[in-house]
Amino acid sequence: MEIQQLNKEIRSKFLERMIKRSPSQLSTSWFQEDLTYNGKENTIFIIVPTPGCSWALGDSGGCTMCSYISDSALENVDDDEIFNLFKEEFEKYGVDSNLSIKLFVSGSFLNPLEVSINARNKILDYLSENEFVKELIVESRPEYINEDLIKDVFIHLKDKLFEISIGLESSNNFTRDEKINKGFTKEDFQKAIETIKSLKNSYNIKSKAYILVKPILTNEAEAIKEAIETAKYCQDVGVDRVSFTPTTIHKGTLVEQLWNRGAYQPAWIWSTMEIINHVRKELTIDSFMDTSGFGSRRGPYNCKKCNKDLKNMIIDSNLNQSTINHECDCKNEWKGIIKSADLNKSKTFPKHLPLL
Ligand code: SF4
Ligand SMILES: [Zn+2]
Repeated sequence: MEIQQLNKEIRSKFLERMIKRSPSQLSTSWFQEDLTYNGKENTIFIIVPTPGCSWALGDSGGCTMCSYISDSALENVDDDEIFNLFKEEFEKYGVDSNLSIKLFVSGSFLNPLEVSINARNKILDYLSENEFVKELIVESRPEYINEDLIKDVFIHLKDKLFEISIGLESSNNFTRDEKINKGFTKEDFQKAIETIKSLKNSYNIKSKAYILVKPILTNEAEAIKEAIETAKYCQDVGVDRVSFTPTTIHKGTLVEQLWNRGAYQPAWIWSTMEIINHVRKELTIDSFMDTSGFGSRRGPYNCKKCNKDLKNMIIDSNLNQSTINHECDCKNEWKGIIKSADLNKSKTFPKHLPLL
């Protein structure tokens, strides 16, 4: 598949140039209020490095919008080192009330090639012993999710809530395969969700789906429509929560190459507001809009006057699951773009993209 070759080529060049950082330089964390399954509570976000996402390091070159690989060690990280880095980050915060942990590994926490079973169990055992930790949220591709693995997770995590977030990105097969290069099918995703659902009676397990807003070769109107359709699909198949992640321009990706040539622009913030207002009215499951990169050159953008206000409103609306009302002069320009979206529609299919 040509998009995979192109992707792989861009990824390989990026990895050659990438300045390696040690695992201790890569681990980081932050603390903020978030909407947990138990209402608004504090959440510690922790990133620990691993050798890197297997999908990105493999022959496919990974997903077209993602360079989380640059937060990875690209070499083996010792089990004790992963655990100790995690613990160091966790212990930076004086924990004395209920909280949720979001543990990111820039890939799949449940892939034993990224986080070994031993390192995983050490982290789970450690968290299970802390009375204030109520939830652990991790990310994984669907192929690593199976009944035995989940049962094993709960042997260590005990009665804490465990949420697995899966990057479905789009329920549209063409978009997911050809524009994002996700490399798994809707059936793979549904199978993982079914596995999670089948264990709900015995374990405190939940699922979340990430939905990409505006993949490459998608106009503004299509981006809104597909994101909403994907969220509805997720609710229909029994996903517990959805989180929209508007594309930002990551370094060393196909998205960046297109953006550099003026062939791609991240979504307008108005489009993200439109998505939120739709799903908050039409869906019963909780939904979130990631605001990373909002108002920056490489992220969703409206105008200097309203970028910041809207970003703050969206953060608030995530916490309250509310809709948003806001007006600004730049909205007319966005409306014009939505109206003329079909005229601007790219006729270039990924397989015809020139090798960059
Ligand atoms: S989005 Fe996930 S699966 Fe895709 S390359 Fe990034 S970390 Fe890997
Ligand atoms: Zn504006």
